[in-house]
Amino acid sequence: MASGEYDGVVIGSGPNGLSAAITLARAGWKVLVIEEQGTIGGGARSTELTLPGFIHDVCSAVHPLAISSPFFRTLPLSEYGLEWIYPPYPVAHPFDDGTAAVLQRSVERTAESLGADRAAYLDLMQGPVADWDDLSRVLLGKPQLPEYPLKLARFAMHAVRSISRLAYSHFQTERARALFAGIAAHSNLSFDRRPSAGFGLVLGAAGHAVGWPVPRGGSQRIADALSAYLRSLGGSIITGTSVRSLSDIPPARAVLCDVTPRQLLRIAGDRLPSAYRNGLARYRYAPGAFKLDWALRGPIPWTASECLNASTVHVGGSMEEMAESERATWSGRIPERPVMIVTQSSLFDSSRAPAGRHTGWAYCHVPNGCIVDMTERMEAQIERFAPGFRGQIMARHVFSPAKLEQHNANLIGGDFMGGVQDLRQLLFRPTRHWYSAQVKGLYLCSSSTPPGGGVHGMCGFFAAEAALRECA
Ligand SMILES: Cc1cc2nc3c(=O)[nH]c(=O)nc-3n(C[C@H](O)[C@H](O)[C@H](O)COP(=O)(O)OP(=O)(O)OC[C@H]3O[C@@H](n4cnc5c(N)ncnc54)[C@H](O)[C@@H]3O)c2cc1C
Repeated sequence: MASGEYDGVVIGSGPNGLSAAITLARAGWKVLVIEEQGTIGGGARSTELTLPGFIHDVCSAVHPLAISSPFFRTLPLSEYGLEWIYPPYPVAHPFDDGTAAVLQRSVERTAESLGADRAAYLDLMQGPVADWDDLSRVLLGKPQLPEYPLKLARFAMHAVRSISRLAYSHFQTERARALFAGIAAHSNLSFDRRPSAGFGLVLGAAGHAVGWPVPRGGSQRIADALSAYLRSLGGSIITGTSVRSLSDIPPARAVLCDVTPRQLLRIAGDRLPSAYRNGLARYRYAPGAFKLDWALRGPIPWTASECLNASTVHVGGSMEEMAESERATWSGRIPERPVMIVTQSSLFDSSRAPAGRHTGWAYCHVPNGCIVDMTERMEAQIERFAPGFRGQIMARHVFSPAKLEQHNANLIGGDFMGGVQDLRQLLFRPTRHWYSAQVKGLYLCSSSTPPGGGVHGMCGFFAAEAALRECA
């Protein structure tokens, strides 16, 4: 790392770090990305966690946000090996009676399958799906007055509510409530906290409008395509190098940090103005994830066969049961029957496992930093809707919140969204200054800035735009 050699240095090679680096490199800057781990990609990595030949997504697995990202859409990622696979159904949600509610690509067919809630579902979803192009630009943008305020007013009216409030006031059937709540549970917010319903609307509408695709070969392919494109623009990446202080890195016009507030305080605390430092110290982290990956003898034997056509299965039973489980997590208790996000990419991508074998990926929410082993509870939940599941397991890999944080220092206590995503922290993320660290040339560019968590690269793009504007 020769000093004076770079215009921009990016700390961290997650999707946002790589997106920031690409944005700078496209503007002609000489860029260096420094990554602590031995491999690039942060939350978009895949590897053989269990047995040889079984490729597991370590963090992200399904990508409605990546496919909707206005920034990613400007990049030639398919030329660098990224290929999307679209499973027939984005989401399935099994019930104890052996049936499942399914989010299909068609809004009409999904509504049709919800019986008495047909009209209510159409009323909720048709608008956002029709307006998805505009809506995704606003939602994956910075929090500001949108260009289409009237079009979005109705969406916002529903989106700022809590899951419980919206589901009870809008739907009358248990199936529709549970389907919606399972999708909204990706917010990692308690069902009575706002704007948890917004996540259900956004991810549901994305499921209809663009699907919940998986990358062929695993989410690592997203990071690999981003890094290959960055290198084609002259950017450099070094791995296995942890930045502990700003003095570890060569001088540059701008330093962009793909880290969360707590790490920024460690790396640059002594250089930050005290008001800003206090703002970062007040930033709140969310419950963590407890994650399991399995090498399986065959597909998960779901009783409801529709589940075999979905990239993602939400396991948690009724809306009431899920609400109780998420309430427990938010009040620091261990959910006995956790809400689980399960993905089964090998059903649609044969490159993930040896012939005839399969991979399974699942996580549940637990209190931040929780040390309780959730393996038994999680496998019991799947067994409940897929009897015989345990017999399919050839090997398992366990990620406790602490192990997740070891794998990626941004996953503080297992928090995988870069901090709580309630109304306050979505608008002032991580402070009212957003990307600027209040020191000339220093920026935050991770999912702890707007628009928040998920693989979409927009935080990195906006932070880099600010750097280009202010440090030209
Ligand atoms: C279990 C799990 C499941 C998920 N599922 C999905 C999903 O299905 N779809 C989806 O869209 N999103 C999903 N996510 C969220 C997604 O992975 C993140 O929101 C996204 O990766 C955030 O990108 P980022 O660039 O901000 O940070 P990260 O991807 O976390 O990258 C940060 C990088 O910075 C590096 N770093 C940190 N500190 C330093 C340092 N001091 N020096 C050098 N390097 C450093 C880290 O090693 C890491 O590589 C999931 C996350 C988890 C944990």
